[in-house]
Amino acid sequence: MSAYKKMLVAIDLTEEAPQVLDKAKAISEAHNAELMLVHVVEPVGYAYGGDIPMDLTELQDQLDKAAREQLGTYGDQYGVDKTNQVVTVGRPESEIHRLAKEQSVDLVIVGSHGRKGFQLLLGSTANGVLHGTECDVLAVRIE
Ligand code: AMP
Repeated sequence: MSAYKKMLVAIDLTEEAPQVLDKAKAISEAHNAELMLVHVVEPVGYAYGGDIPMDLTELQDQLDKAAREQLGTYGDQYGVDKTNQVVTVGRPESEIHRLAKEQSVDLVIVGSHGRKGFQLLLGSTANGVLHGTECDVLAVRIE
């Protein structure tokens, strides 16, 4: 019996993403597990704090579209089903917690930068994902 059946890989769409995807792919093959990718687009309203009275819907739509295209490229490259390529809007940690639960995922995979000193105080997405996810979490060290 394999330990993991469904894995959720959180992808930030930077040039570091393949480091996380390579490991996730290898682990999913070893476990014969289903792979699901998620990228969370942060609401543009967060960045502007609502101070500027303008309609940001179009900008948000463009960001969503670009994220979907980029995630789709990775998904195709790594052989992930279209239905398992998810783009959502919100706070990365909360969305990853929600999706992991909703999709009955048994392993969440995130990238992790070796933070030192002051950076440690700021926390990381990997840390936020770990606290609040009910299944196992694997942090892939980003070089
Ligand atoms: P960070 O702590 O922001 O340096 O990000 C480390 C890892 O968190 C990344 O390698 C991804 O696995 C995950 N991550 C960060 N931002 C996002 C995002 N917007 N959507 C999905 N995963 C993310």
